[in-house]
Amino acid sequence: MNAGSPVRVRFAPSPTGFMHLGHARTALYCYLLARNTGGQFILRIEDTDQRRFVQEALSNITEGLRWLGLQWDEGPEVGGDYGPYQQTERLAVYQEYAEKLVEMGHAFYCFCSTERLDEMRKAQQAQKINPHYDGTCRDIPLTEARQRIAAGEPYVVRFKMPRDGSITVRDEMRGDITVELGNLDDYILVKSNGIPVYHLAAMVDDHLMEITHVFRGSEWLPSLPQNVLLYRTFGWKEPKWYHLSVFLKPSGQGKLSKRDAAQYKEGGYSVMIHDMEELGYLPEAVNNWVALMGWSYDGSTEFFTMDDLVEKFNVEKLNPKPSAINFTKLDHFNGLHIRNLSHADLAQRIKPFFMNRGYITDDDILLKITPILQERLKTLDDAIEMAGFFFQDEIVPRVEDLIQKKMTAEDALLVARRAAEVLEQMPSMALEYTEEPMRQLVEELGMKPGQFFGVIRVAVTGQPVSPPLFESMEIIGKDVILQRLHQAIRLLEVEAQHS
Ligand code: GLU
Repeated sequence: MNAGSPVRVRFAPSPTGFMHLGHARTALYCYLLARNTGGQFILRIEDTDQRRFVQEALSNITEGLRWLGLQWDEGPEVGGDYGPYQQTERLAVYQEYAEKLVEMGHAFYCFCSTERLDEMRKAQQAQKINPHYDGTCRDIPLTEARQRIAAGEPYVVRFKMPRDGSITVRDEMRGDITVELGNLDDYILVKSNGIPVYHLAAMVDDHLMEITHVFRGSEWLPSLPQNVLLYRTFGWKEPKWYHLSVFLKPSGQGKLSKRDAAQYKEGGYSVMIHDMEELGYLPEAVNNWVALMGWSYDGSTEFFTMDDLVEKFNVEKLNPKPSAINFTKLDHFNGLHIRNLSHADLAQRIKPFFMNRGYITDDDILLKITPILQERLKTLDDAIEMAGFFFQDEIVPRVEDLIQKKMTAEDALLVARRAAEVLEQMPSMALEYTEEPMRQLVEELGMKPGQFFGVIRVAVTGQPVSPPLFESMEIIGKDVILQRLHQAIRLLEVEAQHS
């Protein structure tokens, strides 16, 4: 349990791409901490980079959050007292704070052209020094700068980095970090098109939205000193900072990258949230899986429901160790969470998978097959291959599948005929009428059970692998079972004549 007071945390994606695992983890940690402390989880859209804007990214992200069950308390669609929650609707706010910084003497207008800056950078590279702004416009008197702006000269606003001294900042997972201010750049706050950069917009928003804890990717760790300096320059109360560990490729070698996405999909996996839904992963399993990539409870407990996570999540157990993506583990968690569902819930979750493949499902049958599938499913999608035959009016088995190893067509024909004869006598396909008589028949025919049941299985399900045979037969029912056995008999008769 967190003893802490209610937090305000934000998930602040840029709509420059679809929702991926990294997003899911940041959002999950925000959500868990907010729920755990009775605080607020805020969704803020950082859409100032119009060049990289991807049309459907925003809806993809909100749908992904909802699918994962991470409903935000404030943000787009739901509103809140600290809005607007989309940065392009807050541009005037950033302008105001940039102006304030200029007036305070902590920022300046810079009129350097791109060409001049390029040359400067090249010269610095040639001298083997880190590229940085050389300070040309730092000391232009403000009145002169304002005149140049009024005359229409293009400009950016830069932070006036102190030339001396150092700053010590704290990442809660890594401890204190001290850097020399002289090594930091006069970074741009507002671009020439009037749009603020992340380092201004996000800090202003975090302050105005009273964010208490910032969870963000570790790619932002190098920016922490300049971000904190902005807070201190304004005299704002700082949030606690957590730079979440990086994800590594499944091999553990190198950072996970979007470029690998195609390769994962070939293997039936994905790091994109909408794909995970389509592949048949449960949101509960995805949450459980990502929760443990950067956090642990007691180092050994692995299975967590959402309620468990809300109750047990704590920031003390976050760790900055890089964490390799392990899809086998995801499959494992998915199996566990599938087995944790009620039959009715699981039935409803597999239903859309059947429907998307064109099967006409029947809720009663779905409910009946769910118990026999539950132990066997790795993903919801597996249900189609395992149990599609329950919803097919007709199945046409392949003769070569009907005839089992070390069997002739005649042997298989005998099995189908005798089984049909015995089953015809039975009042129904309830287990009590099928299991025992079929086992007796195996003995009587002196066959291996694997061979015998292999023929029946393929005849009634059309496939060599299926859920438990007798349970399946009971669900399919006597009429259809007999029809299917007779169909197999016809196929085998033709085969026997030709062999
Ligand atoms: N918009 C930033 C990103 O998507 C957010 C970083 C942050 O959470 O502060 O990387």
